[in-house]
Amino acid sequence: MPLESLALARGTVDRVTEKRTDEEWLDAAWQDPGTRVLVVSDGQALVRADDEHVELVFVPPEQAPAGTRFLLGQDADGTVYFGVAGDLPPAPVPAASSSSAAPSPAIQPAYLREVGSLLGDRDAGLLTHAVALANWHVTHTHCPVDGTPTVPAPGGHFTVCPRDGTEHFPRTDPAVIMLVTDPDDRCLLARNAAWPGRRVSILAGFVDPGESAEQAVIREVAEETGIKVTNVRYVGSQPWPMPRSLMLGFRADAPAGQAIAVDHDELAEAYWFSRDELLAAIEAREIALPPPVSIARHIIESWFGGPLPSTWPDTFRPRQPS
Ligand SMILES: [Zn+2]
Repeated sequence: MPLESLALARGTVDRVTEKRTDEEWLDAAWQDPGTRVLVVSDGQALVRADDEHVELVFVPPEQAPAGTRFLLGQDADGTVYFGVAGDLPPAPVPAASSSSAAPSPAIQPAYLREVGSLLGDRDAGLLTHAVALANWHVTHTHCPVDGTPTVPAPGGHFTVCPRDGTEHFPRTDPAVIMLVTDPDDRCLLARNAAWPGRRVSILAGFVDPGESAEQAVIREVAEETGIKVTNVRYVGSQPWPMPRSLMLGFRADAPAGQAIAVDHDELAEAYWFSRDELLAAIEAREIALPPPVSIARHIIESWFGGPLPSTWPDTFRPRQPS
């Protein structure tokens, strides 16, 4: 029962990894006015949004700001995409048009978590890739061996220390996220102590050094709720580059006869929900599920057997054109 259509596990652009070290090809692509540059600043990119569509706003290379440049890939039509970690460019001003024309969709900065599920496949893939690399470049600026400022390689997918020649690659932190069910097929949902309001989700945690993902599932569930799980099975993954996670999704079984013992350093509360109880609690606004951009939401809906209502008021709203 693999998960499908995860919001941040999409993409249509070929990463053309063999071009990342081809300086001649990279230079030619940057000189091409048809090349498209996605600027990311503090995790945000410009989007063009109205009530029906959200799409990324690209600039040609000549309008890209100063900043670390990285190759994102090449479309089937030959268009090359770069990312730049730098200041967001000013929103392009729409051409003057007759007053009777429909207003142009507004352009505004947006975070991946806000628009990741609203973008099309191409743009969702590009923004996820760009945010991951931009976050890494901004936070990994020095050689970990001797502290010398590093220099990005031409394609932007690794950095080099000019003093000792060591190469440094982007970091991704694996995390497990798991839906646990009891013998009555009820699912375990918890509220993190750090979360506001009514938000609940399935359990999650980082994989420890020297630990397998399956071991991490068993350890995290036991630490957070006192429940010992068996039959751990993988269901799918998606990147969550905020700042640098890869979420590995699992299901696991909780054998009968166990009581929940919440670790209050991590969780405020945890409960078993039947499908009927879950739907009733959402509709009564006693709880709210994580947003559709998250793998958690997909795993919960996969167990539930269909879409569930969204009651969390943090959905993206397009700005009104001025
Ligand atoms: Zn060094």
